[in-house]
Amino acid sequence: VKGRGRVVGIDIGGTKIAVAAIDGTGELVREAAIPTEPERGFASGISRITDAVTRVVEESGWSPREIHGIGIGCAGPVDPARGTIHNPYTLPGWQDGDIVTALREAFGCPVLLENDADMALLGECGAGAGRGVDPVVMLTFGTGIGGAALVGGAILRGVAGEHPELGHVPVDPRGPACYCGTNGCFESLASGSALAARGNLPEALSAVGAAIWTIVHALLPERIVLGGGVMDTHYDAFAAAASQAIGRAKLAPPGRVTVARARLGNRAGLFGAASAVINRRSED
Ligand SMILES: [Zn+2]
Repeated sequence: VKGRGRVVGIDIGGTKIAVAAIDGTGELVREAAIPTEPERGFASGISRITDAVTRVVEESGWSPREIHGIGIGCAGPVDPARGTIHNPYTLPGWQDGDIVTALREAFGCPVLLENDADMALLGECGAGAGRGVDPVVMLTFGTGIGGAALVGGAILRGVAGEHPELGHVPVDPRGPACYCGTNGCFESLASGSALAARGNLPEALSAVGAAIWTIVHALLPERIVLGGGVMDTHYDAFAAAASQAIGRAKLAPPGRVTVARARLGNRAGLFGAASAVINRRSED
């Protein structure tokens, strides 16, 4: 995070919303978390987020009028250009919610929205395991598997500004059905939910190897960053499976594709959101 100004980072997940006040040097000054409770509806969510932002800003000794910008990472899909949320899976009741306009009107500052995996990637690339390398792929293993890529210093975007869904790379056509529409995708075999439901680490590691193989050949990243809660207990095994797959990939430049553990933990999204809004402002 570089630049000046007092900004707010927000990280919205299906169960929890984290809010942080981050100063111009990239230091996290204050943070808070509230339950998402998406079933209470979008208006309730906006009201509670506005209260949480006001609280962390005031506890930081700042005035809400001083906020230079707000960056939001949200469990996707989201539409970054329109500033709207499109996630019926983990945010039911927030469908098409225009969070950018709502917070811009509440605080009178620039607000930007990205997928949470993209914000975590920006955080790790600015101050964590993706610093100084490019291209970078980040995979976040939690309830699902989030994926994001940085290419040429910018988030890799697909049509409508959406990010690639690397968690849904097909791995085993005989595997379990996934909400994405296929069977045996990466997420359905190696996410935290899959490990909890299936209790099969060899199957998960095999899925990691197969998915990393595809990702390496599709994107040829310089580094693959592995993050998310599953890495707290399984990083060594997952990294070994990924490295073995990379080692077998004869079309990848030998020794140039590396694997690293995410360093910022569950704050990566907050730091990434803050850096995105700071960098956007410096472009204005
Ligand atoms: Zn899937």
